[in-house]
Amino acid sequence: TDPFSTEVKPRILLMGLRRSGKSSIQKVVFHKMSPNETLFLESTNKICREDVSNSSFVNFQIWDFPGQIDFFDPTFDYEMIFRGTGALIFVIDSQDDYMEALSRLHLTVTSAYKVNPDINFEVFIHKVDGLSDDHKIETQRDIHQRANDNLADAGLEKIHLSIYLTSIYDHSIFEAFSKVVQKLIPQLPTLENLLNIFISNSGIEKAFLFDVVSKIYIATDSTPVDMQTYELCCDMIDVVIDISCIYGLEGAGTPYDKESLAIIRLNNTTVLYLKEVTKFLALVCFVREESFERKGLVDYNFHCFRKAIQEVFDVRVKVLRSRKHLNQI
Ligand code: GDP
Repeated sequence: TDPFSTEVKPRILLMGLRRSGKSSIQKVVFHKMSPNETLFLESTNKICREDVSNSSFVNFQIWDFPGQIDFFDPTFDYEMIFRGTGALIFVIDSQDDYMEALSRLHLTVTSAYKVNPDINFEVFIHKVDGLSDDHKIETQRDIHQRANDNLADAGLEKIHLSIYLTSIYDHSIFEAFSKVVQKLIPQLPTLENLLNIFISNSGIEKAFLFDVVSKIYIATDSTPVDMQTYELCCDMIDVVIDISCIYGLEGAGTPYDKESLAIIRLNNTTVLYLKEVTKFLALVCFVREESFERKGLVDYNFHCFRKAIQEVFDVRVKVLRSRKHLNQI
């Protein structure tokens, strides 16, 4: 059985005004489009764009708000959708006047909360590449304040909004997405624990568990995340997939499979090590050259780690299946 059937995937909705950057985010994060190409993305008039991200650990959908769409439209079953959603990301264009976006955010959040108070509300203040550092902080403060004031006026101050500054022109969009996804993974503490044990027993500096398609890291060990390390790991995934697409055996299917393994030696005595863990996930680590001399140990520990990860996800599927079964009785 596939331990990542859709029922256990974190479900994410991406919403926001038209032109706020939703399609660009989707293309850059999930389809490897380069940020400059998004300039030529065509605007669509569809309200809902389903992304069949079968190849990713994350299940995700985009919603637009072109003018007239409202929550009182009976043909639009938003209740059902909110009920199955883990996180609602609302994208606000920081380079534009954001008053309209703020009122849409308020309407969306309050409607969703009524249906499903467990949704995580995540606000992406987007396109911040166009703002100076001071302006970024000021915009974030202003948006946060206004959004919270609106909630307080409605007597809903208990709703928590998480705010992120994002841009598709750097890694901030991947970092923000990683945090959003991590909150939806109930096994996160176990995964972190396994990563901690793995790195300390293998002399590894840093390890990430990556969703290969999106380059979102779904867990890392408890040492602090340094942006440069994270970016290097992202680049490594790109290199591995690209090489495998170009030189992989024809007809071999996907560029990522059980055999996927790569080692890159950097000239500063560090080794990057990538290995397949599950159909969607890969481990990417930073290892000092001297620790990597004991590669047998790293390989052996990895083998144990991989088995443990697979069990973690497997158990959850079994529990869900039996719950579903109970519901049917
Ligand atoms: P959507 O209607 O919400 O799906 O918006 P699009 O994805 O079509 O984006 C609208 C425009 O915003 C496009 O021209 C993108 O190139 C641009 N855009 C998206 N993300 C960013 C960003 O992070 N920074 C900048 N400067 N422009 C962006």
